[in-house]
Amino acid sequence: MPIVDLRDIPVAEKIEADICIVGSGPAGSTIARELDSKRLRIVVVESGGIARNADVDSLNEIENIGRARVMDQWLVRNRMLGGSSNTWTGRCAPFDEIDYEARNWVQYSGWPFTAGEVEPFLQRAAPYLGLGLGSGFSDRAFWELFGRPNFSPEIDEELLVPFFWQFSKDDVNRFDYMRFAKGLLNSAGGVRVILNATVTNINTDAEGAVVKSVDLRGSDGALREVSAPRIVLCAGGIENARLLLASRRANSAGLGNQNDLIGRFLMDHPRGRLGIFDVAKSEPLQRWLGVYNLKNSKGSHRFRHGLRLSPSYQRKNGLLNCAVWLNEYVMDDDPWNALARILRGRGTIATDALFVAANLGLVAKGLNQFLIQRNGMPRKLDRLELLCIVEQQPDPESRITLSDRTDKFGVPISRINWKINQQEERTVRAIGRLVQAEFRRLSLNELHLDDWLVRDEGLPLSFPDIAHPTGTTRMSTSPKLGVVDPDCQVHGVRGLFVAGSSIFPTSSHANPTHMIVATAIRLADFLKGQISNGAR
Ligand SMILES: Cc1cc2nc3c(=O)[nH]c(=O)nc-3n(C[C@H](O)[C@H](O)[C@H](O)COP(=O)(O)OP(=O)(O)OC[C@H]3O[C@@H](n4cnc5c(N)ncnc54)[C@H](O)[C@@H]3O)c2cc1C
Repeated sequence: MPIVDLRDIPVAEKIEADICIVGSGPAGSTIARELDSKRLRIVVVESGGIARNADVDSLNEIENIGRARVMDQWLVRNRMLGGSSNTWTGRCAPFDEIDYEARNWVQYSGWPFTAGEVEPFLQRAAPYLGLGLGSGFSDRAFWELFGRPNFSPEIDEELLVPFFWQFSKDDVNRFDYMRFAKGLLNSAGGVRVILNATVTNINTDAEGAVVKSVDLRGSDGALREVSAPRIVLCAGGIENARLLLASRRANSAGLGNQNDLIGRFLMDHPRGRLGIFDVAKSEPLQRWLGVYNLKNSKGSHRFRHGLRLSPSYQRKNGLLNCAVWLNEYVMDDDPWNALARILRGRGTIATDALFVAANLGLVAKGLNQFLIQRNGMPRKLDRLELLCIVEQQPDPESRITLSDRTDKFGVPISRINWKINQQEERTVRAIGRLVQAEFRRLSLNELHLDDWLVRDEGLPLSFPDIAHPTGTTRMSTSPKLGVVDPDCQVHGVRGLFVAGSSIFPTSSHANPTHMIVATAIRLADFLKGQISNGAR
């Protein structure tokens, strides 16, 4: 794969492509690999390089005027080849059917396609993400797929539905998650990757109706340009909106912003703790809602079992989608952590060997559970918590606009006014109380709810944004309700497409990257079809 630094391209060279992809994270790199062919000139422009660089990191700076957010942007997005997959933690889940519906109690909800239509793309996304299965694993089918008896207690599924997440796994290093930079670099092919190339403007015809090119700046500060009849923004949930808002040559409100929608409907996934369990009595609960290591023809894969709010309960009570799982805080001398450090060549071998030796009983039990029963290993626990992740109500006032401050290339930084509303708070309180009541009824472990939840206070600041910026260029068939159409093309701007979580109309409780990759493949198919039909 030809890879070059922007500053090594002569300023006089005309860079031309059939398709220019902005950003090389999971969305951009997947589209590039899907489109890679001898017939097409594909150029990926990536703001960062192979390694992290403080100067480039500074381009992600934000101004926050809303709810408290993580301000060190490196913790929530990585500006380098492969995007935020450099530090992601690999948890994947498909959306539930209800997530696609227009729900009359969730204003602005409804996707322009159904779960069934996305299903083949979720399957095709699996190898990119290092998943054993692309769909069909997250509910009761899990037990059958892996030939295991379902040993769930009789939970009332009108209230809470058992649910599985699956973890990404690198194809070589089984201890790591899939990192998309490696996938892009390893794919033989003709895609041209230009590093340290930051897009500072999207250029169109005078009316802003047809895309023409993007302006690029690199470490030498010189202006270069990539011309292409099709440009795909894959710069992440915040930067996609920022780039459109900052491209103001044809329309002072921003490109494609004739209906003042760009940057609105900013969502994330508030995530935090609902309560704790008694550690001493927690083994059955940990085994049931624990980690499962399961094998299929594509090798062994790690799943985590949790519970989600049932669709019927959401419907009856006007709530959002939401899920909970156990969070194990292990002690410093947990033998499995010690063993992992030894295997990875980290930590102090003598101390870790002592920790293993002192806990041989737990190790033997763990090996039995891991190898024979294929459950996760029992851990030496300090604390066992119930964590929750909640969908957000799409809110036009929760939004990104442009700050008066600019980055080093003169582009205004994002001014973020992120909001959390009552519907999220009601949903989180409801799931906490349901889990407590159901676990009591089933004589499982007692959940001690946190004070804020008992006192009916709002979501505390311990529910921050978690690197899932969503909705800022939302998809809708109507230009009055969305920035992109169902083919991901910006309404009113021919040739300009957007991929990533910014196109999601609603966010589900599911982590976004599986859906990002699936919708990116869907867009790649559309572009292939458009080109082979000879469309301009
Ligand atoms: C610590 C952490 C943990 C996470 N864990 C999970 C998880 O467990 N499960 C999950 O589903 N998701 C997780 N995520 C989120 C996941 O990483 C993102 O959903 C995913 O990376 C988004 O893919 P993307 O391609 O849309 O955007 P990104 O990965 O953000 O990639 C955007 C790319 O565009 C480039 N770019 C930006 N602006 C410009 C510009 N102007 N010009 C050129 N290039 C530009 C950036 O440098 C970057 O490479 C996590 C993220 C973090 C940070």
